[in-house]
Amino acid sequence: MKIPYKIYLEESEMPKEWYNVRADMKNKPAPLLNPATMQPMTLDELSQVFCCELARQELDDATAYIPIPQEIRDFYKMYRPSPLVRAYCLEEKLETPAHIYYKFEGNNTSGSHKLNSAIAQAYYAKMQGLKGVTTETGAGQWGTALSMACSYLGLDCKVFMVKVSYEQKPFRREVMRTYGASITPSPSDTTAVGRKILENHPETGGSLGCAISEAVETANSLEGYRYVLGSVLNQVLLHQSIIGLETKIAMDKYNIKPDIIIGCAGGGSNLGGLISPFAGQKLRGEADMRLIAVEPESCPSLTRGKFAYDFCDTGMICPLSKMYTLGSNYMPASIHAGGLRYHGMSSVVSQLYADGLMEAVSVPQTKVFEAAEEFARVEGILPAPESSHAIRVAIDEALKCKETGEEKNIVFGLTGTGYFDLYAYKRFNDGEMSDYVPSDEEIAASLAKLPNV
Ligand SMILES: *Cc1c(COP(=O)(O)O)cnc(C)c1O
Repeated sequence: MKIPYKIYLEESEMPKEWYNVRADMKNKPAPLLNPATMQPMTLDELSQVFCCELARQELDDATAYIPIPQEIRDFYKMYRPSPLVRAYCLEEKLETPAHIYYKFEGNNTSGSHKLNSAIAQAYYAKMQGLKGVTTETGAGQWGTALSMACSYLGLDCKVFMVKVSYEQKPFRREVMRTYGASITPSPSDTTAVGRKILENHPETGGSLGCAISEAVETANSLEGYRYVLGSVLNQVLLHQSIIGLETKIAMDKYNIKPDIIIGCAGGGSNLGGLISPFAGQKLRGEADMRLIAVEPESCPSLTRGKFAYDFCDTGMICPLSKMYTLGSNYMPASIHAGGLRYHGMSSVVSQLYADGLMEAVSVPQTKVFEAAEEFARVEGILPAPESSHAIRVAIDEALKCKETGEEKNIVFGLTGTGYFDLYAYKRFNDGEMSDYVPSDEEIAASLAKLPNV
């Protein structure tokens, strides 16, 4: 059977449940710890931070399939199912016998997969009768996705945007404002934690860890508000499993068995969501394939970090998570893939990696942009710098197949589009982009400050 360029699903074939890979993991991800007591967060404690249903999802290590509420499924239908594309043109250009597929999540205004979890988190906040939510955003995709979800449901949305991005990406800001969100550059003088950071580092361009602290403090100080996070958490991976479930349904339709599945890894949500159903098969002994996380060489949490309890934010007010981390004080170099500049990693992805179920590689940004350009020229999509990390490794694996003559099925997650990243493309086109590899000393100095748990 000839495989079409784009494999679409019918509305009726769309998943009605999310898949929770934790249910099939023998070694469960370690629990979040309360920073005040260093004891596992209880449902009650977590419900002070997140809304109740999301706190339940965060703690649920046992239920494999969790129904997607009808309202969320209806919202998904606006922009899902997303296509699984056979990259025939790229294969031809590379002259590889490999079959390359990508799951394209960039077909919505947020320009990324983040809307999959934004609508779920906003929905549960609405059901609980909350007035609004606060959050952080780096490159702006998560803030945009959450703004879209909140405006759809009539919730207020306050976004703390990392200051460098706020200044570099004014158009992102305008998209969020169009959806009615209020945007504050972080660090700001609107929170105690922001004022303290500004006092110590007046010139700082901010970081995700710092914006998280400000968003949490703001939610805590307002009646009827909760904080929401766009990645890292178990609940976010659960919502993002829609990516992997759709991918698997599409592949099953044509009896395609993936040999290699690749995703870029910032906090691990798209990667975790894409690989979940396949990791489940692996864990249950039903199938085997390689699962590869790709991270920037400048922010190498899986490949050079430590598997340990750490704070999720710079202000050290969030629960602690056991994960591969570079230390919550680590200030990643300002590479252009803003969505991958995070010191830690999802605890699910971390545990799968620690148990040898996954691999990880890091790549320099100039090589990433070379791959982005190569892809854009034949596949017709301008990829986000984050997504292009996965493209890089997919191309590298396809070129290996060219050497060996193997007809492997390679699947990667194309998480989003790069229209707000044209400054980065300009630097690349002008030959002004450089790579940054942190020294062992730099990483060791940051890891030395890990909390004693
Ligand atoms: C946020 C983002 C990422 C990285 O986040 P994960 O949680 O690791 O998935 C990757 N690609 C795009 C386009 C993003 O917006």
